[in-house]
Amino acid sequence: MNEKIRKVAVVGTGTLGTQISILSAHFGYIVSTYDTSPESFKDGLKNLKNIMEIFKKKALFSIKDIEEAASSVLHCRELEEAVRDADVVIESVPENLELKREIFEKLDSLAPSRALLATNSSSLPISRIEGVMRRPERCLNIHFYSPATGTNMADIMGGTRTSAETIETASSWVRSLGYVPLIVKKETLGFCFNRIWRAVKREALHLWAGGFVDFKDIDRGWMIAYGTPHGPFGMMDRVGLDVVYDIEMVYYNESKDPRDYPPEALRAMVDRKELGIKTDKGFYRYPNPEYIRPEFLKA
Ligand code: NAD
Repeated sequence: MNEKIRKVAVVGTGTLGTQISILSAHFGYIVSTYDTSPESFKDGLKNLKNIMEIFKKKALFSIKDIEEAASSVLHCRELEEAVRDADVVIESVPENLELKREIFEKLDSLAPSRALLATNSSSLPISRIEGVMRRPERCLNIHFYSPATGTNMADIMGGTRTSAETIETASSWVRSLGYVPLIVKKETLGFCFNRIWRAVKREALHLWAGGFVDFKDIDRGWMIAYGTPHGPFGMMDRVGLDVVYDIEMVYYNESKDPRDYPPEALRAMVDRKELGIKTDKGFYRYPNPEYIRPEFLKA
């Protein structure tokens, strides 16, 4: 545990917020959450267990550990209650700048003045949010990866006024979770490793949607080359295709380059609620997706 931090508050307990809560509780932090949808944590936990089935070999802790940690997480009806006495507040609501700004504005008046206020956004830099805050020096991006119980790294990036102490405390909190902080030295959309993943994702989506190749062959190639439990499309199913779509729109809105516009075929999957592991169908069907079967990689 980090001696400056006792309590972690998580705002938004969908896919990632649930995982961050469980991870923090596992490492002994008091964890409280707030979500507008009361069922979200239960769904997030189910989703995480399904992900861990696929991720077995890389699990950092067992399903029993996950359940134990989950049972110690406190769920609050009000944001104010969740963030009371918090030392770290991490926001993990949908990838929508206005929504995130609204939440940070509330956090500014509700969270203790010492608290680190972080967004888990996959693409939006904190500099786009910090303007609504009276304490921008305590705000930053801390971007975890799914599953947070199997991918032990987090991107860390400050805004225009984030203090060096904030970056250091955040890095030391991330290390206390057994995670490697990947520090971004100069602001960039997508942060550190997440930006590399984004480039892979964009190419993969356009190869598939343009009809150039079967998405399964992209995954096969990736899995053979890098020995991972799935390829880019299995990974997107894990993230959630609605979340992938929103993130791609952030990049498009930034560049206005048509090559950044997410494919219509992806939009159609989102409209059909084929969102990946969380709805049991995305590029693959769950549980037991095709890529975990030995035949998937047989010649
Ligand atoms: P999600 O849709 O699964 O969860 C979002 C949660 O926020 C939902 O439970 C929703 O009810 C809740 N919410 C909505 N409005 C709220 C409000 N006003 N107050 C409190 N809760 C509210 O999304 P997710 O996949 O968990 O992504 C959340 C954030 O984490 C996004 O910014 C995303 O870019 C980032 N992220 C996602 C992944 C991933 O793999 N899914 C990985 C890293 C980062």
